Amino acid sequence: MDCLFCKIAAGEIPSQKVYEDAQMLAFRDIEPKAPVHVLLIPKTHLDGVRALTADNAAVVAHIIAKIPEIAASLGVTDYRVVTNNGAAAGQSVQHLHFHLLGGRTLGEMG
Ligand code: 5GP
Ligand code: ZN
Repeated sequence: MDCLFCKIAAGEIPSQKVYEDAQMLAFRDIEPKAPVHVLLIPKTHLDGVRALTADNAAVVAHIIAKIPEIAASLGVTDYRVVTNNGAAAGQSVQHLHFHLLGGRTLGEMG
């Protein structure tokens, strides 16, 4: 499949990794919106939140459960976790990803 984040997960496209295990990868966003801006992705392809079902969502629990450890390793205690689903919501890459943003005061969501 021609998917940017699948290629990053496979190491075919380089990224600045901050955490990796068998199920997930965390890497720095190429266009950071905050001093800490990391993308958390499952290694298996899912189009986005819209693709989640009871049968495939365990990886999401795994990713969310790793956030405190990843945030601590990046030196942030206050942060925001965001996932955009669909073009009108700002999703530009069709592979499920969670933005982890921190390191500055984050205003209200627009
Ligand atoms: P979305 O807009 O889909 O919520 O988030 C996609 C994110 O992926 C954007 O914040 C964008 O900056 C980031 N991004 C796009 N292409 C690349 C890339 O090749 N490498 C990395 N590290 N981030 C990327
Ligand atoms: Zn993918």
